[in-house]
Amino acid sequence: MKVYADNAATTRLRPEALRAYTETATEFFGNPSSLHSEGQRAKEVLEDCRARMAKALGALPREIVFTSGGSEADNQAILSAARAGAQKGKTRIVSTAIEHHAVLHALNRLKREGFTIDLLPVGTDGIVRAADAEKALGEDVCLCSVMLANNEIGTVQPVKEIAALCRARKIPFHTDAVQAVGHLNVDVNELGADYLALSAHKFGGPRGVGALYARTGAPLSPLVEGGAQERGKRAGTENLPAIAAMTVALEAALATRPETEAYVSALRDRLIDGLSRIPHCALNGDRTRRLAGNVSFCFEGIEGESLLLLLDDKGVSASSGSACTSGSLDPSHVLLAIGRVHDVAHGSLRLTLNEENTKEEVDYLLTVVPEVVETLRNMSPVWRDLTEGKRKFIL
Ligand SMILES: *Cc1c(COP(=O)(O)O)cnc(C)c1O
Repeated sequence: MKVYADNAATTRLRPEALRAYTETATEFFGNPSSLHSEGQRAKEVLEDCRARMAKALGALPREIVFTSGGSEADNQAILSAARAGAQKGKTRIVSTAIEHHAVLHALNRLKREGFTIDLLPVGTDGIVRAADAEKALGEDVCLCSVMLANNEIGTVQPVKEIAALCRARKIPFHTDAVQAVGHLNVDVNELGADYLALSAHKFGGPRGVGALYARTGAPLSPLVEGGAQERGKRAGTENLPAIAAMTVALEAALATRPETEAYVSALRDRLIDGLSRIPHCALNGDRTRRLAGNVSFCFEGIEGESLLLLLDDKGVSASSGSACTSGSLDPSHVLLAIGRVHDVAHGSLRLTLNEENTKEEVDYLLTVVPEVVETLRNMSPVWRDLTEGKRKFIL
C-alpha cells in the first residue's frame, strides 16, 4: 500500500487546479502588462483571481499581492514592517520560538542589522500565551509576528487575542497562515491581522505561488525591484497560470471545508489513539487545539531519520520535524521549544493527513508504524540501555 502522509510539506495538485493551470497557460498567454487585447484579457483574469482570493480571506482586492509562495510573503511582510518601524526609531520585533524558518531567518537577518528580536516561548502544549505577548509588547516594538498554525506539531495559536493586543497598541501584526488557509476559517478582519502569508501548495494548489495580504495603510515595500506589477509591490511578470490554479484550489478547499475538517480530524484521532499505545512515546502539541490533519509523535530510543527510511520502504511518505530541517542534524527548534530533550526530539515522526487519505490507510499506518518502531528499537544500543536500566526513560 502507498500512503502519502506528508500533506504539511506539500499537497497533491487538485484536478480542478490543474485544469485552471493549463487553461490559463494556453488561453491567456498574454502579458497582463501589455496594452493589446491579448494582454488585457490576461489582466482581467489576474484581477478576477485577486478579487476572488480577497473574498476568500475577507480582504479587499488591492490588499492582495501575489508572491512566489509563503516564504516570500513572510519575508516581505516582516521586512516591510521592520523598515518602516526603524524610520520611527522602533527596532524591536516580537515573535515566537516555533515560527517557520521563513519567519525566523528573516528575523535573524534583521537582528544582524541591529533589530532586537524577542521570541515568545510556548507551553509544553505547543501554544503561545497571549499574556506573554502582552508583557513583551512595548512602545519600541515595530512588529509582532505569530503563526496561525504550526507546520510541525499543528498547534493553533491564539492569534486573534494577540492581534487585538497589538491593535490596541498600534503595533503592526503579521501572521504566517500558510498551514491554516484552506484548512481553518481564516478571515483577516476576524483575526485582526495587518499582514497574512499564504501558500498555494499547502491546499492543493501548485508550488511556487502564494500571496501576501497587507491591510490598507500597512507599510509595504517590494523585495524585488523592477516593473510596476502588483501596484509596484512585487516586480516581475505575474505567474498567471499558477495564480489561477491557486484561486481555484482555495475555492475548492473552502467549498467543503467543514466536512473535510470533520472527516480528516476523525482520521487524525484514530491515528493518535492507535499510536499512543506504543510504549514510551508522546504526542507533540495539544491534543485538540491542532490542525485536523496533524499527527506528531516522539518515540524514545530511535532516530527519526531511520524511521522515515523504513516507512518509505513500506510505501509511507512521512516526515520528521519539518522538511526544511531534514538534512541537518539539529533537532527541530519546535520540539525543543515544547521541552523535548535532544535525544527524544530526534525520534520524531510527523504524519499529516488530508481529505485524500482513507481509514484503510490509517489502519495500514497503525500496523506499520508500531512494527517499524519495534524493529528500530531492537537494533538500538540506546534502547538496550533504557530497557536494562542503565539510562532513565524520559517518556
Ligand atoms: C510551507 C510553509 C511556509 C513556506 O511556504 P512556501 O510556499 O513553501 O515558501 C511558510 N510557513 C509555513 C508555516 C509553512 O508551512
